[in-house]
Amino acid sequence: MKPIVFTNVRIFDGTGRGLFPGQVRVAANRIDAVAEGGERIEPAGADIIDGCGMTLMPGMVEGHAHLTWPSSVERIVNTMRLPLEEHLLVTAQNARITLDHGFTSAYSAGSLGERFEVALRDMIDAGYLPGPRLRASSLEKGAEGVMGVPAGHDPTHDRDIAGLREYVKAMAELGVDSIKFLMSSDEGFAPGGAQVLMYSEDEAQAIGEAARDADVWLACHAQAAEAVKRAVRAGFRSIYHCTYADEEALDLLESKKHEIFVAPAPGLLYARVHEAQAFGIGRREAERMGAVSGLELMQTVYPEMKKRGIRVLPGGDYGFAFNPNGENARDLVHFVERLGFSPLEAIAAATRHGGELMGRGDQLGQIRAGFLADLLLVDGDPTVDVAILQDAKRLRVIMKDGEMFKGP
Ligand SMILES: [Zn+2]
Repeated sequence: MKPIVFTNVRIFDGTGRGLFPGQVRVAANRIDAVAEGGERIEPAGADIIDGCGMTLMPGMVEGHAHLTWPSSVERIVNTMRLPLEEHLLVTAQNARITLDHGFTSAYSAGSLGERFEVALRDMIDAGYLPGPRLRASSLEKGAEGVMGVPAGHDPTHDRDIAGLREYVKAMAELGVDSIKFLMSSDEGFAPGGAQVLMYSEDEAQAIGEAARDADVWLACHAQAAEAVKRAVRAGFRSIYHCTYADEEALDLLESKKHEIFVAPAPGLLYARVHEAQAFGIGRREAERMGAVSGLELMQTVYPEMKKRGIRVLPGGDYGFAFNPNGENARDLVHFVERLGFSPLEAIAAATRHGGELMGRGDQLGQIRAGFLADLLLVDGDPTVDVAILQDAKRLRVIMKDGEMFKGP
């Protein structure tokens, strides 16, 4: 395959630095040269893509993906339960839709099928199915059945220390990259649920030790302040929501800010408050589910996290009928309008920090020589208006691993 040179582009390199004019060459699956300003890359022997002044940026990373949650922008499925065969197929469809919308990587925050994501990840990596690079998750564990896990695919772990250890080991052997636990329940499951702790300190510690032994990552849903603290102390790597984090929880998160990631998933709460009427969730229901107060709390907690240098990632909880897969880039608007991020900071979170979340910060999420060629050519300037990233028509090129998923 010939090298490809993008000329006449303005580059967002993922670091948070503003756009600069330049050229980028891709050889095989890597970016092998980046030229700035007046520098030129030798065009001989390469295919040239004239970017006409458009923005070239790293592919985005969905930091809290649920590809098994059925609904997408192509297809509303107003249930979490499907027959297994349909469920696996709709999951593969959602992977392709996620890539269609500019996400070249996705870090799963929990699956509704035990081996769905392991199988899907391997099919994508082998080139048999289109989709983002995937960090595959186990089922979400917590109160059994609470997430609508299909019957027969809800293997329960024993609620004792030995059972938890055994579960972590078994999931690692299954090939998941990340094991998801519900450290707290949620207002969306039951009123007052956010303050219900699902695992004791001892149980959390045992989970953490077992995960370190098995060399597998841990992710969790954690709403209550104490759930966040238990997760940090136990060595959880991805901690989602953190809506009720108090000062001590923020201090703990900050003390491990080079190891951990958080993802608030504001899109779900926003959709519940403003857009879920047609699905039976009016204002009163949204209030009952804690979506109104949750959004307000996030607007205090997350600017503070950003100030402390904690890595906050966009994305999360897309896959509901009123918050479908494919709309994920909308989170960047929420980050800018509600969580105190500048557009540059929001896009850097979705790219450079996303690469770090994927465990490949040294080669993913930036436009730099030697990095993997996951690139978007965007018609317009997302560093002025992040909302344009939601418009798939503006994504003129979607390249993943040096391959043109969508051509110019
Ligand atoms: Zn989630």
